[in-house]
Amino acid sequence: MTPSATAVELKACPLYINGKRVISRGPKDIQHNPATGEAVAEIPRCTAEEISAAVEAAHKAFPAWSRTPVVQRCKVLFKFRELLEANARELVELITEENGKTREEAQGSFDRGIECIEFACGAPTLMMGDTVDRVGTSVDSWSTRYPVGVCVGITPFNFPMMVPLWMFPMAIACGNTFILKPSDKVPRTSVRMVELAHEAGMPPGVLNLVHGAKSTVDQLLTDPRVRAVSFVGSSAVAKYIYQTAANNGKRVQALGGAKNHSVVLPDADIKSTVAAVMGSGFGCAGERCLATSVVVAVGEAGDPLVKELVRAADNLTVGNGCEAGTGMGPVITDEAKKRILGYIELAEKEGAALARDGRKDPVCGGSGYFVGPTILDKVNPESRVAKEEIFGPVLSVIRVKDLKEAIEVVSGSEYGNAASIFTRSGGAARQFTQNVTAGMVGINVGVPAPVAFFPFSGWKNSFFGDLHALGKDAVHFYTETKVVTCRWPD
Ligand code: NAD
Repeated sequence: MTPSATAVELKACPLYINGKRVISRGPKDIQHNPATGEAVAEIPRCTAEEISAAVEAAHKAFPAWSRTPVVQRCKVLFKFRELLEANARELVELITEENGKTREEAQGSFDRGIECIEFACGAPTLMMGDTVDRVGTSVDSWSTRYPVGVCVGITPFNFPMMVPLWMFPMAIACGNTFILKPSDKVPRTSVRMVELAHEAGMPPGVLNLVHGAKSTVDQLLTDPRVRAVSFVGSSAVAKYIYQTAANNGKRVQALGGAKNHSVVLPDADIKSTVAAVMGSGFGCAGERCLATSVVVAVGEAGDPLVKELVRAADNLTVGNGCEAGTGMGPVITDEAKKRILGYIELAEKEGAALARDGRKDPVCGGSGYFVGPTILDKVNPESRVAKEEIFGPVLSVIRVKDLKEAIEVVSGSEYGNAASIFTRSGGAARQFTQNVTAGMVGINVGVPAPVAFFPFSGWKNSFFGDLHALGKDAVHFYTETKVVTCRWPD
């Protein structure tokens, strides 16, 4: 049962427009703590006037910010990083409360977010152009990078801090101004970050924050003052964002959903493989775009692997992420829980063997949105459970005869975010790496998440656009190149 919203004092969720904290006049939705089902905050859906005011603030702030020397821009980010570190404990608590992940997982995502700011602080060198003397008689040529203007970031629920930090630090370091529209399910971590950014000296209008869902996003996608859109979320919405933003003349990078595979060969070290697959499949309750969703067991790897995975899942403590010793928290909403339970029912109908049924775990019947770790064995590669993104703590095991068949299963997916192989054979790892159609590959690594200075390189329906988030791609996405051709007599 969800307690009545009126029975508790709900936290407010302000916006930030032109450096000012604003309480929205729009209608409000109630945010619930996923571990308890309790109502915790009121989340506004911004009015059209509020969204337009945020765009205008970013538009007006752009000329001065883009001309501010890049080292000065980075100084604000250095200070911002310092303030986030000083408030780490509070932010980690907030991530856990909003999203449900464990404190350790929240701390891990905090650290990866900080890494993105540190990378963005390298903008003075990252923005350097190229020069060639004497491209013709008395003619020299060079290229320079300029910020693009007002940028928008639209983010998902699963990493309330890290994914926004994939976007706005680099955009702002490059001289753009920014409007962040965080997930309507977890917006309060973004509120706190934007507050701290202003405390760090972010000038008014450089970083603005609005709330809402489809109508807020649609207004941002069609506003002519917006020049670039970064999106992370599900594939259907990513495709829509890509098409709508591009049709409105904006550059766009849209990162979508995933269905990631871990291939296990019979020569793999079973202990470390089980630990990595458990972390990848059930970490963050399976709500990670790099989570392993399908284990492809080759030959005789299958039986011992399933046995050890079930044993490890039996030992996983599922509960409130705030409590010490919790190994896996809840999923984000009651709706998500119902969707995931629906997939387990579907798996049974599709003929999978339930090696571990998470529905039977006592925590699954409580007031939080818990689903126990579930392992489906002997899953048909053509079934819906094998192909569709479940985004919850459900691992499907597909049995195949050899590596070639395993690569066919992985590459048959409509998604192409990540794929891992577990083996002691360099030749097998090389064959896998070179042939698999996924953009992030792990060798004996369960979550092949690139560090901030490499691009987050999803393929196929996991990405719509040309330039990815992070790495040099991000610098190129948030800047335009100007090439100067100059003649002075010798
Ligand atoms: P979502 O697509 O439901 O929402 C993402 C954002 O889009 C939110 O801010 C939301 O308010 C907004 N939105 C939702 N519906 C919209 C619509 N019809 N029109 C315009 N905007 C809309 O995604 P989610 O449930 O918050 O996040 C989970 C998804 O994100 C999963 O599919 C996961 O794989 C994906 N994800 C991908 C990556 C990646 O790097 N590829 C990273 C994290 C999450």
